[in-house]
Amino acid sequence: MQNITIVGAGIIGLSIAYALHKAGVSVTVIDRDAAGDKVSFGNAGSIAVMEVNPASVPGVFWKVPAWIMSPLGPLSVRPNYSLKLLPWLYQFYLASKPKHALRSHHALATLNKNAYVDMIPMFTEIGVVSELKQKGALVVYETDTGFEQDQAMWQLRQNAGVDAMYLSADQTREYEPALGERVKHGMFVSNASYVTDPKYIVDQLRAWLIKNDVQFIQDEVKSIQKQSNSMYVQGKNARYEADKVVLATGAWSSELTKLLGEKCYVESERGYNTTIQNPDITIAREIVFAERKFVMTPLSCGLRIGGAAEFGGLNNVPNYKRSGALVKLAQLYFPNLKHIKGSVWAGHRPSTPDSLPIISRSQYSDRLFYAFGHGHLGLTQCAITARLIKEMIFNEKSEVDVSMYSIDRFN
Ligand SMILES: Cc1cc2nc3c(=O)[nH]c(=O)nc-3n(C[C@H](O)[C@H](O)[C@H](O)COP(=O)(O)OP(=O)(O)OC[C@H]3O[C@@H](n4cnc5c(N)ncnc54)[C@H](O)[C@@H]3O)c2cc1C
Repeated sequence: MQNITIVGAGIIGLSIAYALHKAGVSVTVIDRDAAGDKVSFGNAGSIAVMEVNPASVPGVFWKVPAWIMSPLGPLSVRPNYSLKLLPWLYQFYLASKPKHALRSHHALATLNKNAYVDMIPMFTEIGVVSELKQKGALVVYETDTGFEQDQAMWQLRQNAGVDAMYLSADQTREYEPALGERVKHGMFVSNASYVTDPKYIVDQLRAWLIKNDVQFIQDEVKSIQKQSNSMYVQGKNARYEADKVVLATGAWSSELTKLLGEKCYVESERGYNTTIQNPDITIAREIVFAERKFVMTPLSCGLRIGGAAEFGGLNNVPNYKRSGALVKLAQLYFPNLKHIKGSVWAGHRPSTPDSLPIISRSQYSDRLFYAFGHGHLGLTQCAITARLIKEMIFNEKSEVDVSMYSIDRFN
């Protein structure tokens, strides 16, 4: 039996552990944090299949300075990190060229089209399929201009199989009666969904894996070395030997790939949210506020209001004013929203300049595989990523052209 070590116990590492265990592999998962870090726990819980357009769309690069100037706007760069971000920004600029952006769109659409195929069987087996609420998502607009500007993007979405229907302001409020007068247009996306609590999904998946003899080790991985017929994973506490290794280390991946001589340009794009237990309003599904770039999801632990994209590396302390600012934005749309005892959270999205994850064999060794950089879509793409990594490991023919996600694009 092959033994494979996965570094990283977020939603990506755990989903890969599940797929490999089902394929008959002896799996070990190493994470420095016993329950994994928290970006897979605290996210918005959306299975956001409509997000098929990369952040780096043509022309967006020149909007970045204005967004950055707004202190609590949707995008920010911490001043002490701005120089360090330049290589990523340059790659972002390259990725926004029309041909490149279209390629990224096709690559994202391919993953999202496959999002449910392996997710539903996995959720069923681990006992959480009832937590997947297939109620669609609502994307709302407060201005005619904002709506018109997004028409090309909606066309691309619809061409990519996203099932979207236009709603007038009144029709939008029929879907979500708590929405106030501010909303002018809506789009209903029927194939989007959300999970009632991303933490519950991760906890149940880990518990299922433990019950099914997947070994979990708490250690901080410092380096990875190839041997003639195996791999060494060097931890802070011990050295581990495996036939093959998968790195699923989210926003921390650059540090490890750099040691192996490969650039991956994964940066932390910190997101924030506030979860309110008794908001005094109810919504039935995820709502995306297109112009203000935040989302609301009705989770079992409360109403979660999340968004923001802050580039400041992994070590700057979070600025929780952003969590509060998101609630203020939400109150513009929901006049009756009460903000009592909200809990705030921040997490590091692992973001690449072209919005595509790296799902790839390494150039360093054909026994080493990469699965990170899922940005805003790690929960959405967890099961398809696991399938693609399993296919690579077993040299199986894939329906998906995986070269689109290769680390080679940055090297
Ligand atoms: C505000 C916000 C909202 C979001 N909403 C959504 C959403 O609605 N839908 C969606 O699909 N996605 C969403 N995301 C994105 C999603 O949460 C991430 O893409 C996903 O969780 C990434 O999972 P991961 O397993 O790659 O990373 P992580 O969950 O960060 O896991 C990586 C793991 O690697 C471990 N690790 C790293 N380095 C080492 C090392 N050297 N040694 C040992 N262990 C190590 C860490 O401890 C961590 O546990 C959101 C993110 C944010 C911030």
